[in-house]
Parts: sequence; C-alpha cells; structure tokens
Amino acid sequence: MKQPLRCWAEIDLAAFERNLKCIQNALPDHMRYVAVVKADAYGHGMPQMVRRLMQSGVDYFAVANITEAAEIRHMGSGWPILLLSPLLPGEESQVLAHDLIATVSTAGECERLNELGKQHDQKVRIHLKIDTGMGRLGVWHEQAEDFLKSIADYSHLKLEGLYTHFSSADSDPEFTQLQRQRFIRIVESIDYSKLLIHADNSAGIDSLSKDSPFNAVRIGLLQFGIAPYPKSALGAASVEPVFSFHARIGLVKELPAHTDISYARSYTLERDSRIAILTAGYGDGIPFELSNKGSVLIHGQHCPILGRVTMDQTIIDVTDCPEAAIGDTATLIGKNGGKEITTVEFSDLVGTISWETLCSITKRVTRLYTGSREI
Ligand SMILES: *Cc1c(COP(=O)(O)O)cnc(C)c1O
Repeated sequence: MKQPLRCWAEIDLAAFERNLKCIQNALPDHMRYVAVVKADAYGHGMPQMVRRLMQSGVDYFAVANITEAAEIRHMGSGWPILLLSPLLPGEESQVLAHDLIATVSTAGECERLNELGKQHDQKVRIHLKIDTGMGRLGVWHEQAEDFLKSIADYSHLKLEGLYTHFSSADSDPEFTQLQRQRFIRIVESIDYSKLLIHADNSAGIDSLSKDSPFNAVRIGLLQFGIAPYPKSALGAASVEPVFSFHARIGLVKELPAHTDISYARSYTLERDSRIAILTAGYGDGIPFELSNKGSVLIHGQHCPILGRVTMDQTIIDVTDCPEAAIGDTATLIGKNGGKEITTVEFSDLVGTISWETLCSITKRVTRLYTGSREI
C-alpha cells in the first residue's frame, strides 16, 4: 500500500499553466518574459516549473546562482539564463561553462569577467545593473553614464542588457516612478536598440508606458498566482494560486478544562475540549510565530492553533468540528471544503511576506504535483 503523506505541498500544474498564458496574453508583443525561478522556483520545484515555462515559450530565465542556472541549462540549451546575484571569486569560469549571463555592478567584476573571456578567447555576456534607489546591487545611477562608457573598453565583455530593480513597486508608486525616470535617463544616454532593457518585477509593470524603452519584465511571484500589487496591469490578469499546504490529523483526544497546552504552557483550555494533533510543525515550515495564532481548515471549518507550534506537531482545537478524525486533512494554505486561507493571509498573520512563506516550506515536505499530465 502507498504510504499516506503526513505533510505536503500541492502544486497545481494546470493553474500554473493557465497563469503563464494569462501573463503572456497581458504582455505587449515586444515585451520579453524573463521567468524568475530562484530558490527552487519559489519552493514549487525548479524542474517541474521550468519544464512548463519552457513549453509555454518564455524568453529568458533568471536565477540567483550558478547551481540553479546549471540545473536549467541541463534542461535546455537554447534559453538565455541571467544570474541575478554577484559572482564570488572562483565562480567566474562557470559563466562560460554553462553559457550564462552575468550581472555586473562594479569595475572589479568587469575586470574579472574580461580576464576570463581573454583566457578562453570568448566574449562573456553581461547585463549591467543600475542602482536607482534599491541600495543593493548595481552601479549608483549618478555614476552609471561614465561606467557605461568604460564598458566598451573591455575587449571580452558583451553588454546585452541594462536593468534596475524597484524597492517599493507594491507600496510606493511615486518612488517607483522616480526610480524609473532615473533609469530611463541612463538608458537614453546610449544606443540601446540591441539591448534588453528591464526593470519591472511582478508588482512594477503598472507604470510601464508603451513608448518607454523597456522590452522585458522579470516575473517571479505572479507566475505562482499571487499578485503582490493587485491594482497593476498584470495583477489584474486573473492568476490563480498554484501552491497549497496541508498536513494530517495524527491523533484526536479529549482534555479537561484548565489543561495547559504544549511547551511553556502558553495556552490553557477554557473548556473541556477535543484537540487534534497535526503531523507537522516548524520542522515542516509551520512558523513558530503561529503559536496561539491563526487556524487551519478541517472539513471546511476554521480550527484554531493552540499553544506553541512544535518541531513535528501542531495542536488544534477541534471541539467545534466534531467530524474531525484521525487521518483527516488540515489545510494551512489553500482551499478546503469551500473555504480558503490564501498565502497572503497566512503571511500577514505570521508577520512576513508571501515570498518568504513559499521559501520556508522545508525539504521534509513532499511536493505533490496535480492538475496536469506529468511530462
Ligand atoms: C526575485 C527578483 C525578481 C522577481 O520578483 P517578484 O516580485 O517575485 O516578481 C525580479 N528581479 C530581481 C532582481 C529579483 O531578485
């Protein structure tokens, strides 16, 4: 007999495929789709997601590091792959070995990559990143014009794109507009006709105008059906959640009123209660922060979390859910019996953001792929 799952994340491939169509239909024809799939495709599973993205015809992939890039490269030789994070000394040769595009922000990086190009008698493909107000990677925009001129002096670098990153696309349209203007000023100071020009992430696309120099967008979260900025043009594209998170009831028992629950006795039963023990805890990615907070869905009913979340178990009040029984499914994120807890709601309660929630589901959790033929 097949072993039952104790805790699993369900990945709805059909919903994912519909989201990709929906995003592609919403993008203007000339706009290239850079699919951001870092961190195991936001916890959804890199190979499964990348395969669908390749089939749906995205133009580029973007990842954080060489290991992630190599995994994609093994799946297909055609797709351009952009590295979003800086390279450590010693990693440079992998850029040529896997035919990747490096992001550069400083002269030092240009020198290291140019040296690599010389050694192999090949041009190294780069995108220059411009810091327009994120305060992270990129050459500071006030120095970007001079820096751009100096790039022409590197015999073995091939500049293929310019980009910037918005710090507050989902919260501050005015600052996003300022960043966009700073970036456009730099872009328009050179002949950018052969370059990939991109700034927008899932939330930023809103302020894109048709005659702007932009010809690509970098989309991460939206692909997985979470619109960080629902008012944006692409947020309005009706994407659906792909991810849901479930565990099972491993035990049900009755306890008298005034019994303390879980470590450090942070909760005391107010009434004679029926409790259910879930077969998952923070070792699976149920945040400790949810101790005495929030609820799970069992038979379409919200059942509160009691006491501290522990490593392998979480205690739930099922006094008002008499049908709850051992083996039943408890849903932490997603739909259950006509009710739903969204990733955004779950994250708000935890005090975090959807991106982190998706990255926090641990290795112990089986990813179950549904909704589409396995290919
Ligand atoms: C992760 C990332 C993105 C994608 O952001 P989403 O908000 O998930 O769409 C885009 N650009 C860069 C540089 C990133 O690091």
